[in-house]
Amino acid sequence: MSTLTETDEALAELRQAEKLLLTTHENPDGDALGSLLSMHWILGQLGKDSVMYMSPDEFPLPYEYRDMVFEGIIGAPPDDLDERTIVFLDCGNIDRMPVDFLKGDGLHILNIDHHHDNTRFGTVNLVDATASCTAEIVWRLARELGAELTPGIADAMYVGLVTDTGRFSYENTSPESHRMAAELMEAGVNPHLVYRRLYEDLPFRRLQLLQRALASVQRHDDGAMTLASLTREDFAETDALETDSEGIVDHMRAVEGTAVAVLVRELLAKDREGLRKVSLRATDGRVDVSRIARSLSGGGHPQAAGFTTELPLDQLVERLRDEVADQL
Ligand code: AMP
Ligand code: MN
Ligand code: MN
Repeated sequence: MSTLTETDEALAELRQAEKLLLTTHENPDGDALGSLLSMHWILGQLGKDSVMYMSPDEFPLPYEYRDMVFEGIIGAPPDDLDERTIVFLDCGNIDRMPVDFLKGDGLHILNIDHHHDNTRFGTVNLVDATASCTAEIVWRLARELGAELTPGIADAMYVGLVTDTGRFSYENTSPESHRMAAELMEAGVNPHLVYRRLYEDLPFRRLQLLQRALASVQRHDDGAMTLASLTREDFAETDALETDSEGIVDHMRAVEGTAVAVLVRELLAKDREGLRKVSLRATDGRVDVSRIARSLSGGGHPQAAGFTTELPLDQLVERLRDEVADQL
């Protein structure tokens, strides 16, 4: 939980830094991208020299974020890296940014995040687990910094807010999230158009991938765990990208009796054969899925967490059943 001091320290960092490098976590989601872009534009307004970094491997971004343009983003360390304050946004631990140049000793890191299990890897840490999304923290900082919420900044923040709250439906949705939404609308956000961009008007292959995921559904332990899985063939035969699986796990959580929803998908990169990405969602407070993810070297929130594993599917299912049973 953040304290007043953490916010004050972060503000002091942002005010005093002339040059910054902003980044987020790998496989960036809406909050990662929205926080990154809005913070970059806010710093630009304040006359700072801000650059954004993401690995070139992240592009193309998931289809729903196609309208977010990361102009000037760099994909390699800048020459003046050691002069820059490194700002991590929405990144719970430094291993979610798998590049070495951002891990060296002597780097000055400002870590802004809302994951309760954030490892506080920054020189300065602003970690507020009560914030619905990192964009909500950026929104508060923007006010303190006297930045104007331009329509572009508001739109980027809104993408973070809508995606991380599951369109204002998850338990992290708070009065503050709605106050933020109201203010962003007053700054020019059109919620219906954002909804269309994020959740509709999607490539048909997404529906085909979903179809395969639904055909794979397994229910375990009287339905306490509902799990779907996607193989490399499922992706190949639908021409789908890894990012096309985004949101599928939400279909698993909607079934009566489910305490934990799971999507397991095989990773597609050549050098990651045999690895599976697991997404976990809890439907209520009975199970903290971040505990399960951490026990398998991942992390996340009590209600939404993930990890990557070498376990074959059948062993993975047994492990997850045990973990869920332990908490129920
Ligand atoms: P996902 O299932 O990928 O949508 O991720 C759900 C949540 O879990 C997000 O808050 C992620 O930040 C977190 N998460 C996913 N994968 C990992 C991982 N390998 N390590 C730590 N946190 C993760
Ligand atoms: Mn994120
Ligand atoms: Mn987030």
